[in-house]
Amino acid sequence: MAPIISIVSPMYNEAEGIAEFVRQVHAAVDALGVPYELILVNDGSKDASLQVAAGIAATDATVRVVSFSRNFGHEAASTAGLRYVRGQAIVLIDSDLQDPPAVIGPMYEKWKEGFQLVYGVRSKRNEETVLKRLTSWLFYRLMRKLAKIDLPKDTGDFRLMDRKVVDAFNALPERNRFVRGMICWTGFRATGVPFVRAPRFAGKSNYNYVKLVKLAIDSLTGFTTAPLKIATWLGSLLATGAMLWTLVVIYQFFFWHNPDGTPYRQPGFTFLYIAILMLGGVQIFLIGLVGEYLARTYEQMQGRPLYIVDELVNFTDTAAVGGPNGGILPPNRG
Ligand code: UDP
Ligand code: MG
Repeated sequence: MAPIISIVSPMYNEAEGIAEFVRQVHAAVDALGVPYELILVNDGSKDASLQVAAGIAATDATVRVVSFSRNFGHEAASTAGLRYVRGQAIVLIDSDLQDPPAVIGPMYEKWKEGFQLVYGVRSKRNEETVLKRLTSWLFYRLMRKLAKIDLPKDTGDFRLMDRKVVDAFNALPERNRFVRGMICWTGFRATGVPFVRAPRFAGKSNYNYVKLVKLAIDSLTGFTTAPLKIATWLGSLLATGAMLWTLVVIYQFFFWHNPDGTPYRQPGFTFLYIAILMLGGVQIFLIGLVGEYLARTYEQMQGRPLYIVDELVNFTDTAAVGGPNGGILPPNRG
């Protein structure tokens, strides 16, 4: 029977914990009474993760394993897993048991209520450092202001998605994949389910500050070309400033007087200074102009659909509604 729920879980060096993870998934999802599948994506583990997972799959038909030739990273592993799912409600969950499989039940209930995207929302962790909290605050703000996407706070990759969300995600062609941002970008009716993030069952975290910074850069550059446009603003600002200053100097030349009555004169280097500012400003502005074109080329090259359609009502011919050229069209509801 075709699965209703598909669970996708990337694993990297999780040999010690994977059996327990699979056990907990069964314990949680069996209770829901619908057919499901668990797709483990082995992201080039250096330990016995693949052997352990394949061993489980040999006797357990709900488990399927996709194994990479080497480590491609968590985002690539999630991306791959989502391309193999057959279910209608798709769960993305870490395999280290930090995301409790027991939360899949409440997420599934929300899906049945009609939500298409159910985030796992981490309950407040007070043990986090001030630096971590500050950087994440800054990150969410930047994403909202610059990238115009409102990433839900305190969410990781743990989430349940409707088939439509996954289809839309799978159709995004870009190479640098910031999974959370891209899923958020697709839109759809979303809600959250709170959970407490557990400590790792075994092994150690593979994320460090370097990877986090890379993820932050991916997410910003993937969703906004604002940095390319900084030069336009900076250049205009400098050149305008220089122009205003010139006006001031000219005004002083004609109308200002020294205390002894002689006409006031700016020292010669003032003009040199203004000329430098002006030229600098114009140059930076022109770099910004190149940036504007680059930004457009980049967006064009990213090749994202212009829109994503959720539903069609009373359409008999889906091909007539714009075709593949703008959005991802849903199955016709007649
Ligand atoms: N993971 C992966 N590839 C990697 C690093 C991690 O597939 O290169 C998996 C890992 O097995 C885990 C999930 O992604 O299931 C989250 O990784 P981790 O626990 O290291 O990150 P953290 O929970 O500390 O953010
Ligand atoms: Mg983890």
